[in-house]
Amino acid sequence: MQRPASAVKELMENAVDAGSTQVDLIVKEAGKLLVQVIDNGKGMSITDARMSFERHATSKIVKSEDLFSIRTFGFRGEALASIGAVAQVEMKTRRQEDELGTCIKVEGSEVKEQSPIACEQGTSISVKNLFYNVPARRSFLKSNPVEMKHIIDEFQRVALSYPHIGFRLFQNDMEVYQLPSEKLSRRIVSLFGSAYKEQLITCQEDMDFIKVHGYIGKPEHAKKTRGEQFFFVNNRFIRNNYLHHAIMNAYEDLISSDQFPFYVLFIDIDPSHIDINVHPTKTEIKFDDEKIVYALVKAAVKKSLGTHSITPSLDFEHNINFDALSNFNYPRTEPAHIERDNGFSEKKFGSFQKPVPSDWQKLYGGFERVPEQSDQDREDNPTSKRVESAANSMESGVSKDLLYTENTSTFQLHGRYIITQIKSGALIVDQQAAHERILYEKYLTMLTNKSGASQQFLFPQSVQLSPGDFALLTEMEEEIRALGFVFGVFSQNTVVINGIPADVQSGSEKELFEGLIEQFKMNKSELKIDKNENLARSLARKSAIRTGTKLTLLEMNTLIDELFACKFPNYAPNGNLTIVTMEMGKIAKLFNRQA
Ligand code: ADP
Ligand code: MG
Repeated sequence: MQRPASAVKELMENAVDAGSTQVDLIVKEAGKLLVQVIDNGKGMSITDARMSFERHATSKIVKSEDLFSIRTFGFRGEALASIGAVAQVEMKTRRQEDELGTCIKVEGSEVKEQSPIACEQGTSISVKNLFYNVPARRSFLKSNPVEMKHIIDEFQRVALSYPHIGFRLFQNDMEVYQLPSEKLSRRIVSLFGSAYKEQLITCQEDMDFIKVHGYIGKPEHAKKTRGEQFFFVNNRFIRNNYLHHAIMNAYEDLISSDQFPFYVLFIDIDPSHIDINVHPTKTEIKFDDEKIVYALVKAAVKKSLGTHSITPSLDFEHNINFDALSNFNYPRTEPAHIERDNGFSEKKFGSFQKPVPSDWQKLYGGFERVPEQSDQDREDNPTSKRVESAANSMESGVSKDLLYTENTSTFQLHGRYIITQIKSGALIVDQQAAHERILYEKYLTMLTNKSGASQQFLFPQSVQLSPGDFALLTEMEEEIRALGFVFGVFSQNTVVINGIPADVQSGSEKELFEGLIEQFKMNKSELKIDKNENLARSLARKSAIRTGTKLTLLEMNTLIDELFACKFPNYAPNGNLTIVTMEMGKIAKLFNRQA
C-alpha cells in the first residue's frame, strides 16, 4: 500500500472479481480523506467479511489447479489486510441470499465493531484517512493533482479492461466519469474524449496459445506524452518495456522518436505460459517465450497500420544539423542536476556571473556598429507586439534605442538560432530555449507572488476537456489562476475562459489550456519537481516562440536582452543550453590556423 491509488486499484479489482456489473469509486481530497468503492457484486457472509481482513484470506484458491489457471486479479489475499492496517475502514456487505448485511469497522488492523445492517446487495468499502497512524508515510504523499492523476490512471486501467461493467468516478462529490456498460471502442472514447473516434484502428492477431486484440492510435495522433499506452495480459494491466518496444518498432518511420502512439492491447495467453507473480504489485509479468510475444505484437500492429494504409509523413521537423557546433558547447550537465542546483554552477560556468541587462554586454564585449538589415517586417510579425511589450516592461539600464540601432550585427539562422557578434567571437542563442527560460522565470515569480496579470476577453471562450483532464484541472485550479488565467466551470468537462496571462498570445486558448494539462502530465511523469515549477515550465513551453518563427531585429535583441536579465540565462528550464559561444580562436582552429 503506497498511496491512495493503490487502494483504488485493489478495491476496484475486488469489486470486479465479485462479479459486479456496476462499480462506483468515490474519492475525496485525492483519496487522502476517502477512497470508497461500491459494487453490486456477490457480497460476503458475516464470517467472510470478517475473514477478508485477515492476511491470506483469499477465497480464490479452492483447488490446487486454481494456482495455474487463475484469471482473476489478486490471489494473495493481502490487500484488505494491508489497507486495514493503515486506515480507518468501514465495510458494508450483503449477499443476495441474506436478508441482512453486515457492517464491519477496522482501524489499524483491529476490528472495532461488527453489526448487522440493512443494505443493498454487494459491497461498499470506505477507506478513510489513509496512513492516519503512519504520519511519515502520510507526509510522503504527493500534492492532490499528482495523487489524483495516479487514481485516474488506475481507474482508467480497470475501466478499460472491463468495458461491459459500468463504472462511475466521483471526485469531491463531482461526477468525473459515468461509464455505462459498452463495447471497448466506446469505452476508449468515453474515457479519453470524442476526438478518439477518428483515431482508433482495430488490431487483431491469433496464434495457437496466444491472441492479441484491441485498438491502436493512428500515427498522426501520437503524443509527446507517455501515459495512453495500455497492455493487458489476461485482462490484467501490465507494464512491459519489451512489448512497448515491439509496438514502437512497428510504428517506426510513421512517428518521430519522441512521440508515443496510443494503444490499448489485450494479450490472451494460456496462463501456464506466464509467471504473473514476479512483481509484488503485479504490474509486471514474465512470459515463457518473450520473443514470440514480441513478434506477434509487432506483427499485429504492423498489419493493422498497413491495412489502414497509412503512408509515412516524411517531414517531421526541419532539423538543421548543427552537430558541428557541439565542439563549442559547454559541458552538458544532467538536467536533473541543474534543477536541483537551481540551474547555475559557478564553478563550471564561471565566466557568466549572473549578468543583469545593463552589464551583460560588457561580459561579451560590445557589439560592433555595422548598420545592416531593415526592420520593416516588424509590423506584420505577430510575435512583435508580445516581445515588444515585454521589452517595455523590462527594467533595463541600457537605452533600448541604443541597443536596437546598434546591435545590427545580429541575425537569425534558419528561423531557429540567433547569432550575434561579441568581442570574443560569436554568441549563438537557441531562440525557443531562450524564450522558455525568460517566460519560465516570469511565471515562476507570478506563481510565487500569486501575481499573474491577465488580459480579459471580450467574448469568453469555452473549452471542452476530457473527463480525466477536467479532474486534474480542478485539482490545479488555484495555481492556474495564479498564473493569470481567469476561468469558470461551465458544465461537466467544460471550462469557460475569460482571461489568459497578459503576456500570452490570444487566439489559441483551447490549445493552451489543453497543452498546459498535457505538459503537466508529462513533466509530472518525467521529473519530480515542485508543482509551481511544473506549471511555470509547462506554460513557458506552451507559449514560447517556436523554432521556425521568424524574428525581427528588434525581437532578437529584446530576446537576448531579456535572456541575460534572467537569473539563470544559460539553460532552458529543461536543462538544455540556451546559448553557446564560439570564440575566434576556436573558429580559427576550424580553419587549421593558430589563434
Ligand atoms: P484477494 O483479492 O487477493 O483474494 P483481498 O485482500 O483483496 O485478497 O480480498 C480478500 C477476500 O475478500 C477476497 O478473496 C474476497 O473473498 C473478499 N472480498 C474482498 N472484496 C470483495 C468484494 N468487493 N466483494 C466480495 N468479496 C470481496
Ligand atoms: Mg484483491
